[in-house]
Amino acid sequence: MTHIVVLGSTNMDLVTYVEKAPQRGETVTGREFRTISGGKGANQAIAAARAGATVSMIGAVGNDAFGTRLRSTLEHSGVDTDLLRTVEGPSGTAHIVVDDKGGNSIVVIPGANGTVDHLVPGDDSLIASADALLLQLEIPLAAVLAGARAARAHGIRTILTPAPARPLPPELLAATDLLVPNEHEATTLTGRTDPAAAAAALLDQVPEVVVTLGAQGSLYAARGAEPLTVPAPQVTAVDSTGAGDTFVGALAVALTEGRPMRSALAWAGAAAALSVQRPGASASMPCRPEIEAQFA
Ligand code: ATP
Repeated sequence: MTHIVVLGSTNMDLVTYVEKAPQRGETVTGREFRTISGGKGANQAIAAARAGATVSMIGAVGNDAFGTRLRSTLEHSGVDTDLLRTVEGPSGTAHIVVDDKGGNSIVVIPGANGTVDHLVPGDDSLIASADALLLQLEIPLAAVLAGARAARAHGIRTILTPAPARPLPPELLAATDLLVPNEHEATTLTGRTDPAAAAAALLDQVPEVVVTLGAQGSLYAARGAEPLTVPAPQVTAVDSTGAGDTFVGALAVALTEGRPMRSALAWAGAAAALSVQRPGASASMPCRPEIEAQFA
């Protein structure tokens, strides 16, 4: 098994389902409320563990009931949480209102994720022992940059998901080996709406880019090579939440196991296609035998 380290967020998603979201000053009665363990870091860690890697998570949860649950969700998926800190104060939360038309509004309170602004003793040697480091942007940029630099110093492949979308400092891109934006993030980073043009522009700053294209699959671009488009399997999607994280987690597993890029993208696409056919984010992520069966 290959070893993947994730440096990123854990969040408890507090999801309220309503017919119509309340306007300013209005009170409405909702239909249902659910608490769902999430956070892009934790989701990618679970995706990679289910896909067959040994996975370690660096990050923080609060010393509240959500923190206990977030940690145990990771552990139940086989993710090593020895370097997941428990800090004073609340865990990260995402307050999500979903209406009947599938529209949503979200307020994120970083909580414990906001304390992950530097590496602590042990993080560096864990990163050095990895086959790949997965990064996203739901913890302070200072830690994302420190992680990317640590990985670069040890010759470890860094895979960055630039979400939530925001402009990035050139020094972070300079320490990134593979950037995996969705179409919206690729546009935010480059100002280009065409994914191929956005990927080409990003190659000025990173050596390899995968733009995920939802039901269309993914597009790969590398310096000095022809771009590659890999279609997604045609499936009936019921909930695409977490599709991107499933894709990145599985892609990291495939690449660290030595699959060539085209095959790795198809394998990750198989994993993500399975996840969109089931409700939930981490709850919908497939295990390796399912991915192999879908891929065959
Ligand atoms: P999300 O925010 O929903 O987690 P994302 O916006 O980060 O996703 P997408 O590009 O929408 O990322 O999807 C990631 C990958 O998931 C795609 O590259 C594709 O392989 C797969 N995928 C998404 N939607 C579908 C679909 N309807 N059918 C098949 N595969 C899909």
